[in-house]
Amino acid sequence: MNPRHPIANLPTHEVTNMPPHLGDQDLWTTDVALKQGVAREGGDWATSHLAKFGRQAGRQEVFELADQANRFSPELKAFDRYGMRINQVEFHPAYHALHEITVSGGLPNFAWNNTRPGAHVAHAALNYMFNQVEGGVVCPMAMTYAAVPALKTTPAIADEWLPKLLSTQYDSRDIPLAEKTGAQVGMFMTEKQGGSDVRANSTKAVRDGDGYRLTGHKFFCSAPMSDAFLTLAYTKNGLSCFLVPRWTPDGQRNTLFLQRLKDKLGNKSNASSEMELQNTWGVMIGPDGRGIRTIIDMVQGTRFYCAFGSAALMRQGLVQALHHTAHRTAFQKKLIDQPLMRNVLADLAIESEAATCLSLRLGRATDQSETGDQQAAALARIGTAVGKYWICKRAPNHTFEAMECHGGPGYVEESIMPRLFRESPVNSIWEGSGNVICLDVLRALHKDPQTREAYLAEVELALGGNVHLDKALVELKDALNDIPPILSCGPGA
Ligand SMILES: Cc1cc2nc3c(=O)[nH]c(=O)nc-3n(C[C@H](O)[C@H](O)[C@H](O)COP(=O)(O)OP(=O)(O)OC[C@H]3O[C@@H](n4cnc5c(N)ncnc54)[C@H](O)[C@@H]3O)c2cc1C
Repeated sequence: MNPRHPIANLPTHEVTNMPPHLGDQDLWTTDVALKQGVAREGGDWATSHLAKFGRQAGRQEVFELADQANRFSPELKAFDRYGMRINQVEFHPAYHALHEITVSGGLPNFAWNNTRPGAHVAHAALNYMFNQVEGGVVCPMAMTYAAVPALKTTPAIADEWLPKLLSTQYDSRDIPLAEKTGAQVGMFMTEKQGGSDVRANSTKAVRDGDGYRLTGHKFFCSAPMSDAFLTLAYTKNGLSCFLVPRWTPDGQRNTLFLQRLKDKLGNKSNASSEMELQNTWGVMIGPDGRGIRTIIDMVQGTRFYCAFGSAALMRQGLVQALHHTAHRTAFQKKLIDQPLMRNVLADLAIESEAATCLSLRLGRATDQSETGDQQAAALARIGTAVGKYWICKRAPNHTFEAMECHGGPGYVEESIMPRLFRESPVNSIWEGSGNVICLDVLRALHKDPQTREAYLAEVELALGGNVHLDKALVELKDALNDIPPILSCGPGA
């Protein structure tokens, strides 16, 4: 309390038994599970970058920017004052300030700019730290990172786009790619009549010279100010993948019509839109009629983001709960010393650390699969789906429990807890909702027996540690011997 404050000495305004402000957080140094996990999974060569970023991202002023970017959410400017279509979204300056931090820190591209073992682990660690501060800005980071493998299937496009996607300069200007210092890519798969079931897409593409013209609607388009979008549309050969840029090669604005922005539960800083494509220019990525196969690599990357993004929400919820309970006294003891609260906090800590460890392990599998390791690729294939399912499913409950540790103040908007709680379901819903992930795991097990072997080899490493887990593992092996074939199920946008 400031003794010079005029009301400081009034008896009704004496504030006691309230925690001090948490202030700056060193998101790297204070996170033992993260530091150990990064070293264990091969990313320790990136420590100095991670440590610097963790200090920078965890500053109180960055948390304040995050609050502002969520409180003053983006606005659609579909038309200018003369009625011309401009298809712009206006963001609060805090959103752009957060973008400067993430892009210069390498959040969309660290793994692609540092091609050495552990790069995806370090990449995950960077994004995990920032997602504790703000999840909305991480959405375009995820899509830009994940688009890279799909773009690489078409070398001429990769040559044009990758230098801009791999840039560490944030350039928010809506201008042709050639004039930009850095660029981002979004993804439109979901349509009104089909999200998980992308084969129900109705968007059509017809040949136009070297490119295509696409017509259709896309129902969920996040980060709509991105410089280009990967999307799916039907040609006469089937569902195909296209890159649709904001600007056509002849320097015209492409006909991407922003219809409206979604009023979402959380993830408020990030615009999610509905978009209509009317004779919109695009270029095919990957083989004609093999669009799902092409875009599935992108989905794998964004699911990886979902897993460590939700682990991050758990971690920040835990940090906040520990801080509050360490300073608040009830019934003559600090809350953290009350036996029941200790149980709750221990459960939160164990689950948070487990989610962090699993996410980083998936990073190593991704790293190793890049070098052609088939066993690692099989583990990354199935493990990313399983990890995404479990961590994202648990995040809302975990965040809620961390909120409850605060009592009433945790429910109040001045605390970060409502924002973390609102953010927590999204990773479970998008990029394959729960059931769709379950079906995808079954499909992987059925189509590629190596996924089963890779998965069992991984979990068998824990054999002998606990009788209950050993028993569960025997049952799991039996169950995996009898995988039912499943009907077709798409990637789940
Ligand atoms: C904040 C936010 C941002 C988003 N951003 C994007 C974006 O940028 N680009 C994009 O393309 N999409 C985006 N999406 C859309 C999201 O990916 C879809 O909502 C999601 O894939 C689910 O599709 P759907 O909404 O059509 O639900 P549906 O496919 O109708 O599914 C509804 C429910 O049914 C379940 N289900 C589906 N099929 C089966 C089955 N065979 N058996 C049992 N259960 C089943 C699903 O698991 C789900 O729980 C975003 C969504 C949100 C919330």
